[in-house]
Amino acid sequence: MPIDPKQPYDENNIFAKILRGELPCSKVYEDEHALAFNDIRPQAPVHVLVIPKGAYVSWDDFTAKAEDSEIAGFMRAVGNVTRQLELDGPGYRLMVNMGTNGHQEVPHLHVHIFGGRQFFQMIGE
Ligand code: AMP
Repeated sequence: MPIDPKQPYDENNIFAKILRGELPCSKVYEDEHALAFNDIRPQAPVHVLVIPKGAYVSWDDFTAKAEDSEIAGFMRAVGNVTRQLELDGPGYRLMVNMGTNGHQEVPHLHVHIFGGRQFFQMIGE
């Protein structure tokens, strides 16, 4: 079920539990600003999620409320992950689902990194 992006941050969401070490993850990368781990239901040969360490429900929440340093650190972390995975040569796709229409299911901002194959051209509609 997609989330309401205007809901308050839920400290018990699954990614909050992963950040606190209460649930395991297949960690790919971690720094001061971000944690990256393999998606549990991969949709591509490489499917990694990058999440900020701060408590932000969505892309909207993050870009409205996070400090510039958190935003810069998070963006840099996404780039670091893609280079660590050697996706910068062949390329990759980034995706953020936001709220109900975006079909966001976990109420902690996450960027999907897809790689390992060529994706279809995105066409309208
Ligand atoms: P979204 O629809 O953008 O909210 O995507 C949520 C993603 O989180 C989905 O691709 C799920 O497969 C993934 N996911 C859910 N629980 C876990 C988990 N415990 N570890 C890793 N990925 C997860």
